[in-house]
Amino acid sequence: MVENTESESRRLLVRLREAMASDGAGQERLDKITQLIADSMGTEVCSIYLFRDEETLELCATEGLHRESVHKTRMRVGEGLVGRVARTGKVINTSDAPSARGFRYMPETGEERFTSFLGIPVQRLGEMMGVLVVQSKETREYSSDAVYALEVVAMVIAEMTELGAFVGEGSAMSPLHQQSVLLKGITAQEGAAEGHIWLHEPRVVVTNPIADDPHRELERLQEAVDELRVGVDNMLQVNGTGNKEQAQVLETYRMFANSKGWMRRMEEDIARGLSAEAAVEKEQSLARGRMAQVQDAYLRERLSDLDDLSNRLLRILTGQGRDTGAELPEDPILVARNIGPAELLEYGRKLKGIILEEGSVGSHAAIVARALAIPLVVRVGRITTEGLNGDHVLVDGDQAVVHLRPDEPVATAFRDKIAMQAQAQERYASIREKPAVTRDEQKINLMMNAGLMADLPSLQNSGAEGVGLFRTELQFLVRNKMPKRSELVESYKQVLQAAQGKRVVFRTLDIGSDKVLPYMKPTDEPNPALGWRAIRVGLDKPGVMRMQLQALIRAANGGPLTVMFPFVAQFEEYRQARAEVDKTLERERRLGHALPSHLEIGAMLETPSLGFAPLKFFEEVDFLSIGGNDLKQFFFAADRENERVRKRYDTLNVSFLSFIERIVERCDISGTPLSFCGEDAGRPIEAVCLAAMGIRILSMRPASIGPVKSLMMRVDLGEMRKIIADARHRGDQTVRPAVMQYLREL
Ligand code: PEP
Ligand code: MG
Repeated sequence: MVENTESESRRLLVRLREAMASDGAGQERLDKITQLIADSMGTEVCSIYLFRDEETLELCATEGLHRESVHKTRMRVGEGLVGRVARTGKVINTSDAPSARGFRYMPETGEERFTSFLGIPVQRLGEMMGVLVVQSKETREYSSDAVYALEVVAMVIAEMTELGAFVGEGSAMSPLHQQSVLLKGITAQEGAAEGHIWLHEPRVVVTNPIADDPHRELERLQEAVDELRVGVDNMLQVNGTGNKEQAQVLETYRMFANSKGWMRRMEEDIARGLSAEAAVEKEQSLARGRMAQVQDAYLRERLSDLDDLSNRLLRILTGQGRDTGAELPEDPILVARNIGPAELLEYGRKLKGIILEEGSVGSHAAIVARALAIPLVVRVGRITTEGLNGDHVLVDGDQAVVHLRPDEPVATAFRDKIAMQAQAQERYASIREKPAVTRDEQKINLMMNAGLMADLPSLQNSGAEGVGLFRTELQFLVRNKMPKRSELVESYKQVLQAAQGKRVVFRTLDIGSDKVLPYMKPTDEPNPALGWRAIRVGLDKPGVMRMQLQALIRAANGGPLTVMFPFVAQFEEYRQARAEVDKTLERERRLGHALPSHLEIGAMLETPSLGFAPLKFFEEVDFLSIGGNDLKQFFFAADRENERVRKRYDTLNVSFLSFIERIVERCDISGTPLSFCGEDAGRPIEAVCLAAMGIRILSMRPASIGPVKSLMMRVDLGEMRKIIADARHRGDQTVRPAVMQYLREL
């Protein structure tokens, strides 16, 4: 039976290839395919529906339905049985179509006469391209072998569609990869950029989906898999002594490369008529389909390993390397499914923008993109399948959208936006050297946040007065192993050198929660944001903290040094951390290293509890910096990573502002210097309100300094305080409307 179907599907594929090889317009080819399938399968109807645009399917060829309805009959995704196949990507096989859920009668095609329906998705690597349908009058459910044979044919049709085989003169079909598309995502770095796509991982194109000689294809597959196994074994040896996590990933690769099930399925596909590369791609498509449905993070990772392995195998089989001969365009917009921080740093400032199909706002790639101030939109579905190398693209990091192959009016409007941003930048440049002094003569200190070497040039060109927050964990996060003390000394020295005497506040390692080091054993916690993180880890396992403190002291080399501890929730934690500093100083002194000429040890105020700590704490700490991102999430009990709840609570909410004011008052009593270094410090309206509440030092992304300074110089903090007081008095929930009104009147 299997033998029989194998030869049947092979026969079908061979006939299909002949039809494809003949000259003729795309439409003719499609017509031939439907005739061939109907004939081979003994069904009255065979039709091919392809996507006309994102939402609509169009009948593009048919054998058995009314010819006049070709290119006229259209349906929306989800509509009717065909639309359902397109929406779900799943086969529908029914012997009684009119009673099936979602059946829609289309009189123009004459289809009511057909009771049996088999619909197969036409898709390539998870990208839905259309639906292949066979129908017959006879009440029958198609056998699993028939379904299999048609799935293989559907895959070949998908490959051909990808190659543009059906686009021809007189055909109403618009070619793939030529239409303009608007794709939505999530902003990870603001800014607008126009350029041309550079695919980080160029797609492998399978040009010969149908096998000439199955025996030869089996040999090719075997040879390629052998080569793949050797490659993986070599990687394992090279990394054998390295870190455990990486070795585990490679072990998984080896497991897949030797997996009997994987191999067997591909061999069966070849026996049924596919070429070796088409068989690999079929498995890859299946894995991608599963990946889209799996929730479990571990399983998703493994499926993504399999995806990567399939890519390697495809490259071996087709000889298509990453180096496609294409040249990096002048204005490259990087497109990838995902990318690691190290790879991104290699591209560096050459990139104009970045679009990722996966990724997240808190990912390491996002951290690097922010440091380099490159607009980044993440979670842009379909970008790697829709976009081709060299395609014109607009990245709108402010609106979180991507215009792929934009129409001219869209591109023109976008250029206007870029020009306006450039004008604003010029305006900011003109006030770069000026201090941020308000109309009522209050001087506000504007500092920048940093964390990577790539940030440091901004210290000069942003006009920042220093680094108010240096997130030291970023250097740990972008590596794949724990840095050595000597490496830390070297990089902290470079930071201090680049600062040229300006103040740099080094924050000790803030890991845990969203910041997980790839080389540290992950802890399984129900609420990581409330869990074992930052100073809690530092105090429980002081080894790394001591190494970091030593490195900082050595880098300061007898000069001034400022250190701050993250996430302090109670006085005692600060005392313990400070005791660690004292011990380290003593050890360094004994070892003969120079001690800092002036040392300040501060704490971040990121939990409401610290705002209510004893006054003694405020007196002991050298300075405080409000970490608004964390403080706000704990104040309102709203996860900062959860889009749904995050925006619900306004920073200008009167309760939050009152709390800030209370902290300011306590610091005034104890004479404790106070700054604010969360993201809100870089939002002009929030920044002026924080200043009105009495904060005099704000630390923000370098790109925000210009806009914040520009507004700060126009406001009167005394007037603002009055507006805020009035709003509170009225019982407003947030002072934003009143403040906006005041700013508009300015
Ligand atoms: C904060 O919480 O506001 C802060 C500055 O620290 P991070 O964003 O690194 O947690
Ligand atoms: Mg924080």
